[in-house]
Amino acid sequence: MTAIAMTEPAAGSDLAGISVSAVRDGDSYVLNGAKTFITGGVQADLAIVVARTSRDEADRRAGLTLLVVEEGMACFSRGRNLDKLGLKSQDTGGLFFDDVWVPVAGRMTRCGDEGPGRLISTGTGTGPVRRCTGF
Ligand SMILES: Cc1cc2nc3c(=O)[nH]c(=O)nc-3n(C[C@H](O)[C@H](O)[C@H](O)COP(=O)(O)OP(=O)(O)OC[C@H]3O[C@@H](n4cnc5c(N)ncnc54)[C@H](O)[C@@H]3O)c2cc1C
Repeated sequence: MTAIAMTEPAAGSDLAGISVSAVRDGDSYVLNGAKTFITGGVQADLAIVVARTSRDEADRRAGLTLLVVEEGMACFSRGRNLDKLGLKSQDTGGLFFDDVWVPVAGRMTRCGDEGPGRLISTGTGTGPVRRCTGF
């Protein structure tokens, strides 16, 4: 099962506010921060995480990249299944990254190198993610 992790405690509709950071170090990115309200976040084997790889104050939508985080990666953890009024069959939870090393090979590159997350922050919901990643 795959989760798509965009929302953060301080970034919902305005995805240009994403602050989960991914800093390149050799052949990996070091991922830090938290996502919340992620469908399947508790059980997913794999999460496509929208992370900030650079910051351009003139263009807040630039510098967002999609990274694949897998179950079992060191320093990757999840929160509890959040209580909801409905949609009980889907879990909804938080993802936490505390210096998670993600191989560069886990960067979704179908739309280019770093930065395809721009498509997400200029669109709404998962449609742009699907177009970008093929999921
Ligand atoms: C059951 C459930 C499952 C979810 N699954 C996922 C998931 O799998 N992955 C994921 O990344 N996220 C997921 N989310 C998070 C969801 O995408 C966010 O809740 C959504 O982006 C809104 O963000 P927010 O809750 O922070 O609300 P806010 O962005 O704070 O918005 C609050 C209200 O203000 C309105 N608003 C916001 N900006 C404007 C504006 N500029 N003009 C006018 N009105 C505005 C909104 O329409 C809304 O009514 C899920 C949420 C729920 C409840």
